[in-house]
Amino acid sequence: MNNSFLKTPQYTNYDDLVKLFDELETNYPELAKVYSIGKSVEGRRLLVIQISEGVKSTHPERPAFKYVANMHGDESVGRQLMIYLAQYLLVNYGKDDRVTKLVNTTDIHLMPSLNPDGFEKSKFEGDGRNNAKGVDLNRDFPDQFDRNRSNDDAYLFGGRQPETAAIIRWVLSKQFVLSGNLHGGAIVASYPYDDSRLYVECLQLEACLLCGRGIAPGEAHSCNRSCLNFLGGMQDFNYVNSNCFEVTFELSCCKYPRAAQLPHFWDINRDPLLAYIEQVHVGVTGFVLDEDGEPVKNAQIIVEGIKHSVRSTEHGAYWRLLLPGDYNITTVASGHRLNSTNKARRIDFAILITYQLKQQ
Ligand SMILES: [Zn+2]
Repeated sequence: MNNSFLKTPQYTNYDDLVKLFDELETNYPELAKVYSIGKSVEGRRLLVIQISEGVKSTHPERPAFKYVANMHGDESVGRQLMIYLAQYLLVNYGKDDRVTKLVNTTDIHLMPSLNPDGFEKSKFEGDGRNNAKGVDLNRDFPDQFDRNRSNDDAYLFGGRQPETAAIIRWVLSKQFVLSGNLHGGAIVASYPYDDSRLYVECLQLEACLLCGRGIAPGEAHSCNRSCLNFLGGMQDFNYVNSNCFEVTFELSCCKYPRAAQLPHFWDINRDPLLAYIEQVHVGVTGFVLDEDGEPVKNAQIIVEGIKHSVRSTEHGAYWRLLLPGDYNITTVASGHRLNSTNKARRIDFAILITYQLKQQ
């Protein structure tokens, strides 16, 4: 296993991150693509590295996964782990079976820092939780219990920080299936909804899938709800407004540990970080097609007993995370009805079902 990138443990600042990602893209043109989803208040790019085999082509059958770290600029461990993870996946592709399989089957997007301004500041002043305008980005998202809530752009984007608006645009335009939001300062995993104690309808089922099996990143071992109730968070926004299920992981007790400890944090988090990405393949996936075999986009995939449905992509592909069990799954698209033979399904690991719809 190649861990050469750990030789001199140190935090990678913004300028070095830009250089490193450029190098990775140049050295691994078939596997890595770097893009920016927008700019911070101080004009730093919000960089993402996309890692997938044949990254320049479209692969409609691959589920999209994302990690977003460092939205609180002083919570530095997740940021550095994303930088390590990108290198780990690229360096070990073709050498390590687990990495190779993951990169061959998954569209992986890693964002080391949603708050690069805060991170640069925290190095010198020890306080960079908020963005350069003093706003806590994890309280700046549209909230499901906001009385003024709506789906129009004026509400979604109006008055938001540029970092928040960039994430909203990204989440609404790209159909992610699963996401991890990496923080520090405690060791906890939390899942939607974090803005209410009335979380029963948010699928204990889905939370179990991700936390209850002991695969949460790092030492995170409890799904602690009571201390994480707040409004305007990013994970609930993902869940309410898109297909994406997001879990928040707090990776380290100390928000900004000494750089010498980074290899330790990498050691204890590497396998869980990989295992969490692998969860994107648990459940049911397939395509929704019309009578002529053409893809149907925006079809709803409905699991009986679960309020949250997912929708098919422009290629007709869909992914529904589910634990093994018996489910009634139906597919609905405007102007079509479901071929009823596809109604009841036993779901095992990554089962594939293609739905062919009929004209109504
Ligand atoms: Zn945080």
